[in-house]
Amino acid sequence: MAQNSTVLICGEQEEGKITAVTKELLGVGKILAGGLNGKLSALIIGSDIRDSGEEAIVYGADNVYLVEDPLLSQYNPDSYTTAITQACQQIGPSVVLLGHTTMGRDVAGRVAFRLGCFPCMNCTNLDIDSKSLVQTRSVYGGNAIAVVVSRDSQLQLATIKPRAMTPLEPDSSRKGEIENIKVKIDDPAIRTKLVSTTKEEVEGIKLEDARVIVAGGGGIGDAEGFQLLQDFARILGGAVGTTTVPYDEGWVPTTSMVIGDSGKTVKPDLYIAIGIRGASQHITGCSESKLMVAINKDSDAGIFKVSDLGVVADYRKVLPPLIERCKALLAT
Ligand SMILES: Cc1cc2nc3c(=O)[nH]c(=O)nc-3n(C[C@H](O)[C@H](O)[C@H](O)COP(=O)(O)OP(=O)(O)OC[C@H]3O[C@@H](n4cnc5c(N)ncnc54)[C@H](O)[C@@H]3O)c2cc1C
Repeated sequence: MAQNSTVLICGEQEEGKITAVTKELLGVGKILAGGLNGKLSALIIGSDIRDSGEEAIVYGADNVYLVEDPLLSQYNPDSYTTAITQACQQIGPSVVLLGHTTMGRDVAGRVAFRLGCFPCMNCTNLDIDSKSLVQTRSVYGGNAIAVVVSRDSQLQLATIKPRAMTPLEPDSSRKGEIENIKVKIDDPAIRTKLVSTTKEEVEGIKLEDARVIVAGGGGIGDAEGFQLLQDFARILGGAVGTTTVPYDEGWVPTTSMVIGDSGKTVKPDLYIAIGIRGASQHITGCSESKLMVAINKDSDAGIFKVSDLGVVADYRKVLPPLIERCKALLAT
């Protein structure tokens, strides 16, 4: 594969609109392309996706490659691996970036193997040093940071942690070429078939978009306790998040509420951690919150080391009067 100084981001779209992580890929991709004196290209896969190509330009792409095929209308690891691999072989980028999403996690290793390079997964920062991609990621459950440079490889491939990078401001005056490229997808080689898709219904504000998050952990004790957290979040105009414990215990309905290493990364203005110990796997997902307040009955809980404000108390005693006080203040 002949390489050039292109940074290629593998964008994702939903119903013709590029996703938030795609905008973040374009934001960091632009910086890397500048460091390589190269260009930033976006690859978008699917069917009927021209609008998302135009949106990618607005968010920073110098040019866009579209791969359109009925076999690519919905995500499938086999067909998408083939499409991304063949597109990379035609485009010849020196850096390939994907989101650390369901798709990115699934295909990055497969694509890297086929292209003969090393995938660095879930990066929280990317930079260029002497034409090499410097990839930063958290390891050992968030207890250490690894900096990875693939010096032997011509091609470098990384996935980025959602919400770790900043998108560019949209600029509709940006111009760029949109080109369709052809790939050959062999139907029998598609070993997995998508049987059905169920769209997750989100009541109220999405966790990723919430400016206030009320998060409950193992200390909440039952589903009823989470009802109290829902009331608190509603008054503050926020969303409820959780650790893995309440999900495992069945106190919350969905894994999409989990924040941390194996859940979501959030960056709210206010993060209220209630009955949460402060395990590194949880903190890695909320450490970028502007203000963190913890309520925990154990004064030695690790959460107090990372919080701006702490209340040592049983949440069942402090939360009902706190909710009443907030209600009264917000009503005035
Ligand atoms: C590979 C791996 C990935 C993981 N990924 C994640 C992840 O993405 N997200 C995540 O959250 N975890 C993750 N975990 C789990 C993580 O290690 C912790 O086990 C988990 O975060 C602990 O949750 P917790 O603090 O809510 O619960 P606990 O450890 O049960 O802590 C409960 C806390 O509540 C306090 N408490 C108890 N009762 C009350 C009360 N009435 N009022 C006030 N405080 C009270 C206690 O003092 C305690 O500090 C992962 C683990 C592994 C191994």
